[in-house]
Amino acid sequence: MRAHIVGGGFGGLAAAAFLIRNAGVPGPDITIYEADARMGGGLFLGGDAKTGYNLPGSVFDSEFRCTFDLLQSIPSASDPGVSVTKEFFDFNESHPFDDRARLIDRNGRVVHGPRFGLTWRDGFDLLRLSLTPESWLEGRRIADCFVPGFFASEFWLCYSTVMGSLPQHSAAELRRYINRTLHMLPSISDMSNIWRTRFDQYQTLIEPLVAWLGAEGVEMHTGTRVVDVGFVDSPGQLTANRLDYERDGASTSIPVPPGDIVLLTFGSQVADMSVGSMTAAPRRERAGRSWALWKRLAERRPELGRPETFFGEEYVSDARWVGFTVTTTGTEFLDAMVALTGNQTGTGGLVSLVDSAWLLSLSVFHQPEIIGQPEGTAVLWGYGLFPERTGHFVPKRMEACTGAEILEELLRQLGFVRQLDAIMASSICIPCDMPYVNNIWLIRGRGDRPPPVPRGSTNLGLVGQYVELPRDVAFTIEYSARAAWEAVHILLGRGPPPPRVYQARFDPQALFAALKVFVNPRSARP
Ligand SMILES: Cc1cc2nc3c(=O)[nH]c(=O)nc-3n(C[C@H](O)[C@H](O)[C@H](O)COP(=O)(O)OP(=O)(O)OC[C@H]3O[C@@H](n4cnc5c(N)ncnc54)[C@H](O)[C@@H]3O)c2cc1C
Repeated sequence: MRAHIVGGGFGGLAAAAFLIRNAGVPGPDITIYEADARMGGGLFLGGDAKTGYNLPGSVFDSEFRCTFDLLQSIPSASDPGVSVTKEFFDFNESHPFDDRARLIDRNGRVVHGPRFGLTWRDGFDLLRLSLTPESWLEGRRIADCFVPGFFASEFWLCYSTVMGSLPQHSAAELRRYINRTLHMLPSISDMSNIWRTRFDQYQTLIEPLVAWLGAEGVEMHTGTRVVDVGFVDSPGQLTANRLDYERDGASTSIPVPPGDIVLLTFGSQVADMSVGSMTAAPRRERAGRSWALWKRLAERRPELGRPETFFGEEYVSDARWVGFTVTTTGTEFLDAMVALTGNQTGTGGLVSLVDSAWLLSLSVFHQPEIIGQPEGTAVLWGYGLFPERTGHFVPKRMEACTGAEILEELLRQLGFVRQLDAIMASSICIPCDMPYVNNIWLIRGRGDRPPPVPRGSTNLGLVGQYVELPRDVAFTIEYSARAAWEAVHILLGRGPPPPRVYQARFDPQALFAALKVFVNPRSARP
């Protein structure tokens, strides 16, 4: 039996590792086809200290059960004697976030008050959302479940800037988030229940997995795009029998004989991502390549879901973020951040500038963030949740801005006018346009996301963030790990099933702490 995996993001790599570890498939019998030049998908690390790095931010918690189970088998990049999971736990237990300035207004004041500005009504609405069956929320927006004032509360600003939710997004997805992350809510301001990787996510997660799979003999083909999958013509059954791929301009067709399995990654949060520079805005190519295979197959087989629910020009305004990575060699930026926030470098989680039109958030990483980062260089990451709005100081939409323009708007919003010239001279800001990054929050209906093993499938599994996994939340690597574990378990019937999705609402300690915040008649919005 051979396994053919399409997509070398965290989901595809996890699928290969579960095949080996849980199902006993020999590594040399597994092939991964990845369209990009590098493995990793949404967990990327671009650039270098000279040209400026480009990477995503990092938000995890201790209940990524499938992820941490898998990664305890994988040696970490920093110390092969220590697993990736142990590295995660050791680092976060010894370096918990203690964010002292989670939200900051235009005057540099920290926005924080009792009960996160929630009224009794807001608390009741949150509780009601948590208890409403998901099927009743189908087609409803978050805005339909709360009074307008809720969206100006400290709670909503803290939550939405960490999780990416907007009022027009899916109420069903927010319900999942609340029930899954209830244990984080009492500390949503200091972020002490939120975890991060020790180093950037590519080096922490992707490189060790790729190294382990390579040592096991897995074949990994980069620069290889699968353009079609053939199916046996047999009513009521879904059996893949052919893969067509393109590589270096050549097309190849390979048979999938009976007994082989095929695991496909459908779609990507980083679809159509483009990267700019200090002097150039990102130039978007509307390629649509990341969901082309899903679209092609779903047109022939409706049981494979509806990519048009998540991908299409009409969704970009509800799904886009513009991220940016700052590489700085001076001390001015970090010194000014310490003075403003009261957090030593790396001890605060995210600073969100609530009066900025783009709703800018900035994460000052624990340094070094990157293995091999030169001494005296620091790396920071941020993003704008509303990039389609016009900046205050730079009168442009964020996605049309160069790195220098984004950095200037950021520094002026932070009030670092005195240090501006010195920081601009010693920093490189790389902008990164991600038009679909937030599309997992879009309103969806039943059947839009297919299950990890679709109806009638005999040898086809689906992985990634666009499959349906009850109760879990999709903007996480855990979702991709869970889908991979489930697909392998169901298709091959070997190894244990995945652990249950953590539901904080059934954890008495988490529930009690959250109720103190949600249901509090004495709390009133000023
Ligand atoms: C800015 C940002 C920040 C994030 N922060 C966090 C975080 O803090 N915590 C967290 O848990 N998660 C985070 N995520 C989400 C995380 O990146 C994803 O959950 C994870 O990377 C998804 O992995 P995946 O393999 O399912 O999909 P992807 O990473 O999207 O990988 C899919 C891969 O499949 C390839 N592919 C697609 N179609 C084909 C084809 N036809 N042929 C060959 N290859 C194909 C693509 O090129 C891609 O490499 C973040 C994502 C982004 C973008």
